[in-house]
Amino acid sequence: MKAQQNLFAQDSESAAEPTSLFAEVVFNRPLEQSFTYGIPRQLEARVQPGVRVKVPLGRGDRPAIGYCVAVSGKSPSYAVKPILAVLDDKPLLTPPLLELTRWMSDYYFCPWGQVLDAIVPAGAKEGVGLRQKLFVEPVPEDRLPIPPPRLTSRQRTALEALRNESSAIEIGVLAERLGCGPSVIQQLIRKGLARGFKQQVEAARPGPETHGAAEPPPVLSADQQQVHTALSEAVARGGFQPFLLHGVTGSGKTEIYLRAIEQCVDQGREALVLVPEISLTPQTIERFRGRFPRVAVLHSHLSDSDRGRYWRQIAAGEVQVIVGARSAVFAPTRQLGLIVVDEEHESSFKQETTPRYHARDVAVMRARLEGIPIVLGSATPSLESWHNARRGRYRLLSLPRRVLDLPMPSVQLIDLRHEPSARGPYRAISPTLERAMRETLNRGGQIILLLNRRGFSTFLLCPACGEAMKCRFCDVALTHHRDRDVLLCHYCGYEQPPPECCPHCGLRQMRFLGVGTEKLEAELAQKFPGVPSLRMDSDSMRQSGAHARAFEAFRRGDVRILLGTQMIAKGLDFPNVTLVGVIQADFALHIPDFRSAERTFQLLAQVAGRTGRGPAGGRVLVQTFNPEQPCIQLAARHDFPAFAETELRHRQELSYPPFTRLVRILLRGKEADVVRQEADRLAEAFRQQLPRLANRKAMVRILGPAETPVARLMGYYRYHFQMQSPNVTAVHELLRRVWSEYKVVRGVDVSVDVDPYNLL
Ligand code: ADP
Ligand code: ZN
Repeated sequence: MKAQQNLFAQDSESAAEPTSLFAEVVFNRPLEQSFTYGIPRQLEARVQPGVRVKVPLGRGDRPAIGYCVAVSGKSPSYAVKPILAVLDDKPLLTPPLLELTRWMSDYYFCPWGQVLDAIVPAGAKEGVGLRQKLFVEPVPEDRLPIPPPRLTSRQRTALEALRNESSAIEIGVLAERLGCGPSVIQQLIRKGLARGFKQQVEAARPGPETHGAAEPPPVLSADQQQVHTALSEAVARGGFQPFLLHGVTGSGKTEIYLRAIEQCVDQGREALVLVPEISLTPQTIERFRGRFPRVAVLHSHLSDSDRGRYWRQIAAGEVQVIVGARSAVFAPTRQLGLIVVDEEHESSFKQETTPRYHARDVAVMRARLEGIPIVLGSATPSLESWHNARRGRYRLLSLPRRVLDLPMPSVQLIDLRHEPSARGPYRAISPTLERAMRETLNRGGQIILLLNRRGFSTFLLCPACGEAMKCRFCDVALTHHRDRDVLLCHYCGYEQPPPECCPHCGLRQMRFLGVGTEKLEAELAQKFPGVPSLRMDSDSMRQSGAHARAFEAFRRGDVRILLGTQMIAKGLDFPNVTLVGVIQADFALHIPDFRSAERTFQLLAQVAGRTGRGPAGGRVLVQTFNPEQPCIQLAARHDFPAFAETELRHRQELSYPPFTRLVRILLRGKEADVVRQEADRLAEAFRQQLPRLANRKAMVRILGPAETPVARLMGYYRYHFQMQSPNVTAVHELLRRVWSEYKVVRGVDVSVDVDPYNLL
């Protein structure tokens, strides 16, 4: 990407020679470099870095839309084509965002134009939700026509009203106020007494919702006070400083964020808070709206026009605090003062389509570019962040205790290998857990049950030939959903009716095995008749507003047992929950992924954190077939530091992240042989380049190629291989070297995933 160097340097000669300005333009195409175009004199004022332009591209000079990323006065040595038109009045991106996206382009190995196109919301690009309106303002006295034109009495009234306005007013609004037609005002313009102009305005403008102040903020605990002091100094001083806030569940992390944000807002700056999408609950949003009058909430269900409106309001500096999921990291703030990433370990911060960025890592880079502090917070930090804190890259802040001296809940493991087997068709709830549930209900407490699988039976097996029913398009077992009586693929959405008999051997008695949330719900109805329970998973929570209604019913106590997938494991704060049951702790443990122990620990620690938040205390029962696993043992003891040490040692032995970087190359295609051959050829091309690396001592290992664990997905056969190296620069160099000369065979699609989270 040579042409991109020096893009942000302003050229001082440009003012002296205004006719010879040039723009660097990038496109939403798999083109690696930027292109230079001449800026025609009449467009000079409008072409700025961050606007979109229409330019001729390629041999046929077809008009194409690209992003101007830099303007300079340096004339290239070759003849350039001119820009045809400018599409935006104002830049869509600020200079730090342009720089951030350029970094992403290099780091995630994705063309700059594709990154830009992915992060600017459609609503901001197309001006969705904007309308052109006619405005009018009086002509200043020293420019009034002489002699003064004659006016009708209506025109005179209109002129007087217009002169009483403090700023320009929309013609329609003024006409309505005066009870006249717009032509009266247009006459004023024609006679030189008023000036009319067009302006884009919001079609609807409810503005960021405002709220009155909620309860007064609590007095900080001693631990909180220490953390607060450290952050407060950083916010006051400014400058890049990354913090990792490790605070157990219920230790008051959010209160810490709120105080730091308050300080930032008092300085007239904006704060950006990233949270996982599923944590954007009304409860969370209310905590921010209760403290700050101007909060924008960016979640994935916003319409294009709402998203565009927020984007413009943020750009105009009308918002103090932005709370949002992954893509909010690109909010075009004017003067960002602080970034908070809550639940920083969450894998939903990783985007699984191009550009495959990790919002936490992008946020850290943004904080660096903007020169501001950033706080990454979690009860179970990612091992990447923990490692960064251990080696001094991040400053570690700790909240090791819960607020108000509340104890951590006691966690008891139920060894399913020794549990007396339950009778009857349902056996997800062991007798020990069932007893504890009855006790809890008798004392008036509420219960949360976690089962991280949706559906009724998680697979359908023929007892004669041992075949499980698989998806037609994926190498994945189908799940039976009894609500709709279908077999459903959780990867691609394919569904079919359950077969009468085995499609392989014709036997008539297919077995419905494995427990999903639907079956657990049926078991509850049978074991606890009359006790109101509610299931929360992506099937039952389809309707908009369903989440809010469910949580509200649980808060009021109308629901006694809340059961569901990880959707219920995080962030909820209900003081009356005195029992949490985990139906199957081992679920994630056997997934072929080096992070499976980490994920198991996180989920257990998070769901355990949902109880013991009130005076009635709380306990957790965890059903498992692997009670001796360190991740389960240490989660039961709430000992994250010990878990991190154990797991990091293990990772180091195997040269896994965070001790190395991984890059995953995934190949997909309709024909298995073609994909396999191409995977072999491409992996070989990488190996060939290894000896040519500039830093030949940089260790880069290439693992594979091999079939992916899910060998077929949505009808595509899949192969992958991985590059592993402690030296990220070497990996980037390798990618560039191979890609500069390699041509992928037709029929195979290749994707590059830097720091992958999904290895299936
Ligand atoms: P975390 O994010 O660490 O799980 P929260 O910030 O949600 O913890 O705090 C848990 C609960 O404790 C919230 O209801 C919050 O209002 C309350 N809280 C936080 N700090 C204090 C404090 N210093 N004194 C009393 N209550 C507090
Ligand atoms: Zn499928």
